[in-house]
Amino acid sequence: MLLEIKDLGVAFGGLRAVENVGFRLDKGRTLGIVGESGSGKSVTSLAIMGLHRGAEVSGEILFDGQQLVGAPPESLRRLRGRRMAMIFQDPLSSLHPHYSVGEQIAEAYRLHFGASRRAARTRAVEMLAEVGIASPKDRVGDHPHQFSGGMRQRVMIAMALACEPDLLIADEPTTALDVTVQAQILELIKKIQDDRGLAVVLITHDLGVVARVADEVLVMYGGRVAEQASADEIFDSSLHPYTRGLLDSLPRLDEDDDTPMRTIPGSPPSLLAPPPGCPFHPRCPQRMEVCERDLPLLSRTSPGHLAACHLGSP
Ligand code: SF4
Ligand code: MG
Repeated sequence: MLLEIKDLGVAFGGLRAVENVGFRLDKGRTLGIVGESGSGKSVTSLAIMGLHRGAEVSGEILFDGQQLVGAPPESLRRLRGRRMAMIFQDPLSSLHPHYSVGEQIAEAYRLHFGASRRAARTRAVEMLAEVGIASPKDRVGDHPHQFSGGMRQRVMIAMALACEPDLLIADEPTTALDVTVQAQILELIKKIQDDRGLAVVLITHDLGVVARVADEVLVMYGGRVAEQASADEIFDSSLHPYTRGLLDSLPRLDEDDDTPMRTIPGSPPSLLAPPPGCPFHPRCPQRMEVCERDLPLLSRTSPGHLAACHLGSP
């Protein structure tokens, strides 16, 4: 087991951003974490990377057997980049405008492997080729602004993979891209995962993205897990009304472009003053009296399928 999260909690003072999150992820597998903004999905990934500034983290994060909760910053720094890497929605904010993409890919490699300048540059060219940048030898000296949005995301992926990490965390990697480019980047992530046996945590608000790549899915709502199952289970037999709401808002092939998009009415709960009972109850079309009073516990509904909803309980 490469990554095992048990009862993870992340709080910022009185604000509980994440509670009771757990999952296991093996090499070569992809976990999709889905939710709206404020659901705790990004906070979860930052906690895994040890980048949760000013937060109190509880529970366990086991990476290849090593406990990361409470680990010294120095050992987390060694793991980051080398064994776990992250890419974000907006490559421009993560790339330095004044350095060539080659220098930026090479820098991480030099840092972690102590490679010579020359070897690191060769590595950068190799990586650009691997992520599908044409004529990599000619492009290695170019700067980020000379690349399109999709190409910049390819460069970010090259940077993330230069040190051959075991785990890639991708936080909304395709959200800023148009649909065609989005599909290309997802294909690239899938291909690289196959070639390298990477474990991937893919964070997104879009269940459609998850459908393309994830093996397992964790649906988060208000900092908690609403539902958790294999991707097939989530798409064929989801139980939680929130998951079903997300599925209903996916565009369908049998509709023309004039059909208005369905969305879940209402907005996500405030983490500072969460509603009593089920965090989803103010928006839930199936809420019952008990939902306004008691928090539904995450429980097993069938092997490998967990849901936090009173509908499923006896
Ligand atoms: Fe809806 Fe109640 Fe289930 Fe919450 S517990 S999702 S309010 S039915
Ligand atoms: Mg986010």
